[in-house]
Amino acid sequence: MNNFLESTSQGLYCIPGDFHIDPHSPVERAVVTHAHSDHARWGCQKYLAAKPCEQLLRLRMSPEAEFRFLPYGETLTVGGVRVSFHPAGHILGSAQIRLEYQGQVGLITGDYKLGTDPTCEAWQPVRCHWMVSESTFGLPIYRWPSQEGVFQSINQWWQECRDAGKCCLLYGYAIGKSQRLLAGLDPTIGRIYCHGAVEKGNEAYRRTGIALPETTYVGSVAGKHDWRGTMVVAVPSVHGTPWVKKFGRCSTAMSSGWMAVRGARRRRSVDRGFVLSDHVDWQSLLTAIDACNPETVWLTHGYAASVARYLVEQGRDARVLDSRGRSEVDEDAADEVSSNERANASIDPAPGEAKTP
Ligand SMILES: [Zn+2]
Ligand SMILES: [Zn+2]
Repeated sequence: MNNFLESTSQGLYCIPGDFHIDPHSPVERAVVTHAHSDHARWGCQKYLAAKPCEQLLRLRMSPEAEFRFLPYGETLTVGGVRVSFHPAGHILGSAQIRLEYQGQVGLITGDYKLGTDPTCEAWQPVRCHWMVSESTFGLPIYRWPSQEGVFQSINQWWQECRDAGKCCLLYGYAIGKSQRLLAGLDPTIGRIYCHGAVEKGNEAYRRTGIALPETTYVGSVAGKHDWRGTMVVAVPSVHGTPWVKKFGRCSTAMSSGWMAVRGARRRRSVDRGFVLSDHVDWQSLLTAIDACNPETVWLTHGYAASVARYLVEQGRDARVLDSRGRSEVDEDAADEVSSNERANASIDPAPGEAKTP
């Protein structure tokens, strides 16, 4: 790619620094953008990440690994390369990695989003010569509605279910999405319960100092229980399994960026779909690139080719990153989507209809 970074079968490799960034397989030294498993791979010997990522990374990685954490904005020089982490706004502790070597500044965004999220620090632009950006939702049909509006709809849905004597089952990815959902729920409506994987994430968030409403682990509730009016936050993989039977009459909902695509909710067979994503939508992707203003942009994940084509038309030097060895599965985004939805996304028209139902 340039004189100090190359794309290898194990992911991006910094040559003078002798480390990988978000490696696809276990390596000796990994510098990671955030704790989702497609970025923080299990089995590396050493991990370097942003300080607020510590609790989540320790939760998911082998305790035998060696960890080092840097506060946002602080620099560590590795083999002549100045490495620093800058808020990505994706989930707690998520970072863009800035690399500076011989006067050249590069930025690897990892997953990121613009806008506010009370559970993590807001994305910050970083000026650079070249940039590797994700493009998971890199099509104009992806335009996120206001977060306030989405949470209003979620709380209204909960209220209606409570009044109808139903339990609410809200699906979101275990780490990141679920905690963002929790932070937006109105706990005066009723009690909040969480699936075990979500509750583990909650604990890591709370240990980092992020305020979340009171939650109860579903597994700690013994015997017969009246679930009417409660909110259960769970991972999408439990949908349609015997695990959900215990809640009795309930209404189900999925929260995901993919809910912006017509038909996604139906294919998921949930009652409601809320458009809430922790990735940049089309417009914020373009805004971010303009703010960082790189000479060259490399696109990865999702619709890389479409975004690159568009940027080239706009006069930018944009290319698709050859991500050999990378599984096409993005942990948090994939959990929200079937390949079917992803395939349909490119042909589904009518962005005007891409609204929270
Ligand atoms: Zn992620
Ligand atoms: Zn990812």
